[in-house]
Amino acid sequence: MPVTAASLERAALDSAVREIAAEMADRPDRGTVASYIPELAEVDPGRFALVVIDADGHVAAGGDSEAPFSIQSISKVFTLTLALGMAGDRLWAKVGREPSGSPFNSIVQLENEKGIPRNPFINAGAIAVTDLILARRQPREALGEILRFLQFLSDDTSIVIDAAVAASEQRTGFRNAALANYMRSFGVLENPVDFTLGVYFHHCAIAMSCRQLAQAGRFLAHLGANPATGMRVVSPERARRINAIMLTCGHYDGSGEFAYRVGLPGKSGVGGGILAVAPGKASVAVWSPGLDAAGNSHLGRIALEKLTRRMGWSIFGT
Ligand code: GLN
Repeated sequence: MPVTAASLERAALDSAVREIAAEMADRPDRGTVASYIPELAEVDPGRFALVVIDADGHVAAGGDSEAPFSIQSISKVFTLTLALGMAGDRLWAKVGREPSGSPFNSIVQLENEKGIPRNPFINAGAIAVTDLILARRQPREALGEILRFLQFLSDDTSIVIDAAVAASEQRTGFRNAALANYMRSFGVLENPVDFTLGVYFHHCAIAMSCRQLAQAGRFLAHLGANPATGMRVVSPERARRINAIMLTCGHYDGSGEFAYRVGLPGKSGVGGGILAVAPGKASVAVWSPGLDAAGNSHLGRIALEKLTRRMGWSIFGT
């Protein structure tokens, strides 16, 4: 095979992913696994995976790249995409798009702002987005739509909801119930609160591997379309805007630190996953279950920082 700039770049990517995954597997500082959802507390903090899919569709994978994990709040990128498709800019009457500077499950901010959540990625905002998707239908219809959307984006119909994780959160999600009831009192939620919460808990409990997640994120890295098929998911403008919200709000009150260190739009989940987007270059998924104080994957962020440094991928310059 001739040596081209593209093949050199691909070799550099392969070795970066391999070396970062090996380094992360050995690190003793792994953060703390989320315990407020009992089922997530059972996950082994020693797990790690990193998958990068470049613009040509080349997959660079390290660690447990095929192991499914609970995507949790990463699902909020996809529910936002779906809800914008259904409601367009009407969505912004119910949810803001400013960073919150507060924990992902903050209650006090919602009262100050009269039941309108700061952004679609904190819990209150994502619950409001879920309510829009539900649109007076039966919960199972809305949930089926969300799951099928992820299966379509990943080109993989084996993706399922982890019923044990959903049940675990449904049993213990009192704070999310408080947020939802509070928003209902302002008319921000329009469906029965139990229905909206049921769909929310279940979409957070979707289980995916890093490979499936990186595949699902490709449209965000490539102007709204999957470069492999040319299939358009959203307009280039909408992809750009979703990326902007991921950059500013995707890591809650750790978003500034993530931008500073990694420099890519990214969305974390308390299952320890992060989906990150290098516009025009790659879609990246990382998983390490231990979290930092803001509820974001500790080693996931460190791995992404190393990757973007090595590849020169920060959107703010190399
Ligand atoms: N399902 C989780 C919750 O509602 C999602 C939170 C997260 O991933 N940050 O608390």
